[in-house]
Amino acid sequence: MRILISNDDGYRARGIIALRGALAGLGDLTVVAPDRNRSGASNSLTLETPLRVSKAEADVYFVQGTPTDCVHLAISGLFPFEPDMVVSGINDGSNLGDDVLYSGTVAAAMEGRFLGKTAVAFSLHTDGLRGDSTRYFETGAHYARMIVERLQAAPLERAVILNVNIPNIPAGEVRGLKVTRLGNRHRAAAMIRAEDPRGRPVYWVGPAGAGQDAGPGTDFHAVAEGYVSVTPLTVDLTNYAALDNVRSWIGTP
Ligand code: MN
Repeated sequence: MRILISNDDGYRARGIIALRGALAGLGDLTVVAPDRNRSGASNSLTLETPLRVSKAEADVYFVQGTPTDCVHLAISGLFPFEPDMVVSGINDGSNLGDDVLYSGTVAAAMEGRFLGKTAVAFSLHTDGLRGDSTRYFETGAHYARMIVERLQAAPLERAVILNVNIPNIPAGEVRGLKVTRLGNRHRAAAMIRAEDPRGRPVYWVGPAGAGQDAGPGTDFHAVAEGYVSVTPLTVDLTNYAALDNVRSWIGTP
């Protein structure tokens, strides 16, 4: 089996190195990832400039592009073969609830699914930690291997993308796995205004809001309780419950 590994934190990030190590022996591993941190890139594609690919080492490539660019390129043109599975992560930060709409980590997996591959995204719940705080990527790596092995033994149906969030604790303290639905967050903090050295205003996107719909059954709740959260995602955003109401609002049958 050929496994494509990507992420949105960049090809040198700790999480992707841990993921590659975790999957050793499960198949032919190829890394194609952004050249730098592209967190928040969502499903964006680079259309106005060409994509340049560089080789960092055997089977590790980096691209001046988004996570979606990387997976798209890796599956449809970069190699004379196609991977069977796309594994994304391990992201430095959770992708819970609404985060999945902004996440490049999830987008990389989603692109794999669009192109017909088994796809899974892994994220470590390091939210709010300082740069030098302890990050248990080895916990993420342990569960990434477990879940990829399970996918190899028993693939899921085509429409399912797995979004996995791992608590940032030692593996021995994890209480198990829970299959969850997406919760959602309170609105994000306001933009943070600062000044550049020339006195001109600049703005930083503020931190994501805390969990709002974060009760039992949600991804937020599972991770907070020390479980690995496994959420099956699909891409159809249609609000089916609203179809009839909108038909009568528009005046069409
Ligand atoms: Mn990221």
